[in-house]
Amino acid sequence: MRPPRRNWRDGDVIVAAALDLAAATGVRIQARAVTHPQFVADAAADLRNFPRDCWSGQGDYGRAVPSDDRQTMVALDLEGVLVPEIWIAIAEHTGIDELRRTTRDEPDYDRLMGGRVELLERHDLTMSLIADVIASLQPLDGAAEFLHALRARTQVVILSDTFEQFAAPLMAQLEWPTLLCHRLVVADDLVTGYRLRLADHKRLAVEAIRSLNYRVAAAGDSYNDTAMLQAADTGVLFRAPDHVIEEFPQFPALCAYDELLTALTD
Ligand SMILES: [Mg+2]
Repeated sequence: MRPPRRNWRDGDVIVAAALDLAAATGVRIQARAVTHPQFVADAAADLRNFPRDCWSGQGDYGRAVPSDDRQTMVALDLEGVLVPEIWIAIAEHTGIDELRRTTRDEPDYDRLMGGRVELLERHDLTMSLIADVIASLQPLDGAAEFLHALRARTQVVILSDTFEQFAAPLMAQLEWPTLLCHRLVVADDLVTGYRLRLADHKRLAVEAIRSLNYRVAAAGDSYNDTAMLQAADTGVLFRAPDHVIEEFPQFPALCAYDELLTALTD
């Protein structure tokens, strides 16, 4: 991606960053000293929209943009970050070990879910039984307090690849935060399929929120979070397994809720 052609008109730091970028990319940028906040905002927005690998090695343009006073929205994964892995709980309750595979193990979500639906069918597991298991779950230790504190500081949206039917009892224990997820297809108390509201919805949600002029900070623990972490202004891995941390070294890896609160709000 090449930087857009634009007349940079304001802000020494913005102009300096733009000129550095121009030198690095060979694109001509004209700088003029005319003060107007909108020009600064436009320039900052353009810089932010460059792929990170355009600028991360050349200097920190993220910090070099002093006019980034956007409001913040935090995007959080659900399972593994705020609540236990629901499918692992179902595996433990039913003794079906094959249900233990999660997005931490299988990057291909369709393959993962297709296998789960097949297992439920093969073992005649009803939606009522699954609902009973989920109703017995609680948020991870400290998660409710963390989310409460976070929501007092900033807007929060939960972006999850779980399903409405699974999430409801846990959302009640988390004071009903906004949740964007999917929906299971249930007939005669049996799970017969699943309906993704939208493929790659976590990344698309982060991009959409950023297009509303929010700064987005995101946290997740698995393969299905890395695209949203990449799309966010700040991306953090939280309690991720070692192989995910090793595969995505560009994201800070945190384990404690107080560290996460700081990383997402500072
Ligand atoms: Mg997760």
